[in-house]
Amino acid sequence: MRKINELFYSLQGEGYNCGIPAVFIRFSGCNLQCPFCDTQHNTGEWMDDAAIVTEVMKYPAPLVVLTGGEPSLFIDELFIKALLATGKKIAIETNGTCPLKLSEETRKQIWITISPKDFLEGSKAPILMQECDELKVVNVGQELSHYFDMKAHHYFLQPCDFGDAKKNQENLQMTIQSCLQDTRWRLSLQTHKMIGIR
Ligand code: SF4
Repeated sequence: MRKINELFYSLQGEGYNCGIPAVFIRFSGCNLQCPFCDTQHNTGEWMDDAAIVTEVMKYPAPLVVLTGGEPSLFIDELFIKALLATGKKIAIETNGTCPLKLSEETRKQIWITISPKDFLEGSKAPILMQECDELKVVNVGQELSHYFDMKAHHYFLQPCDFGDAKKNQENLQMTIQSCLQDTRWRLSLQTHKMIGIR
């Protein structure tokens, strides 16, 4: 049984898979406590893997996104194999501080996004994963050069949503400048928030 915070169908709003219809499986619980986190960690429904797969199959989405909470705390080989058997692309969004408990073979079949939270004041959890398909960095104005030490196929820089229009605008401009100055970055925007979907 796994505690699922919510399972819903929408468009992936950010990063490499932006715009793709996706079933989101949001887990409850995380080893970090980011102030901008949009997950209610205390709520959730216990579901077994068969029930989760049945729910996923109700939607025509080509993509399933496992997100947080911190999904690496809650997934295992059996669960990922059950999801892969649906024929959908499986993506996981992790903070990178907990290694994935998956075989190399299974890991190669899923899309891995690391979104490090190492810039948070007081964050003591080191990033243990050093390789991914996509590195998605939330930009709050921190030093950025060390992120290229991490091996990734794509590097995205995404302005943090501070919940403050003026601060967000300043941060967006700073993020655009960072992308223009270092062209290894691609800009990622939270388009789901702009168009009013989940
Ligand atoms: S790492 Fe992600 S899920 Fe965990 S507290 Fe931070 S934003 Fe929330």
